[in-house]
Amino acid sequence: MSTRAALSSRNRHPASSLSESALPTAQGPSYAIDPTWYEQQKVSLEAAVHARRCISCQAASNKKDTTPASRSSRAPAKGKTPALSGWQLEMRALSEDCAQKQDYVTADTPLIEAVFRTLLANENRPTAFQHLVEQINQRYAVGEMPKDVAPSTLERVLARQRTYGIKQVESSE
Ligand SMILES: [Zn+2]
Repeated sequence: MSTRAALSSRNRHPASSLSESALPTAQGPSYAIDPTWYEQQKVSLEAAVHARRCISCQAASNKKDTTPASRSSRAPAKGKTPALSGWQLEMRALSEDCAQKQDYVTADTPLIEAVFRTLLANENRPTAFQHLVEQINQRYAVGEMPKDVAPSTLERVLARQRTYGIKQVESSE
């Protein structure tokens, strides 16, 4: 016992206290949703994003005559921002509303679906592997049947996914 404690005190990672801001090591590759994959597969990314909107957003968009204009008075600032495509608008609205809700990702959500939803919540900014693990596990920790995903499991699922158009990208950090 005593020798083990002496050994481990030297090269122990203080990850539990400093994991967010001061990770000295690489955080692994980053991931993002690849819109060109959807174009090539002739799959509508806009529809895929829309399907992840929350129930009330979907109900609102189905009633075309009652668009929730009063709630989100989003002025299309034409001069500054480049025009966002349909899926980007869906993603932004999702990120601002639907992804904030508790049932957006639960412990029942399959892992690859949780990755997709997490990337959408991040507005598809390239997300480091480490952050993906953390964000998904934060969601998975809530509820009646919390669970915890091992990084190796996520790695395997990412390597196998073929239908979500998620790609590994150069980290911008
Ligand atoms: Zn919503």
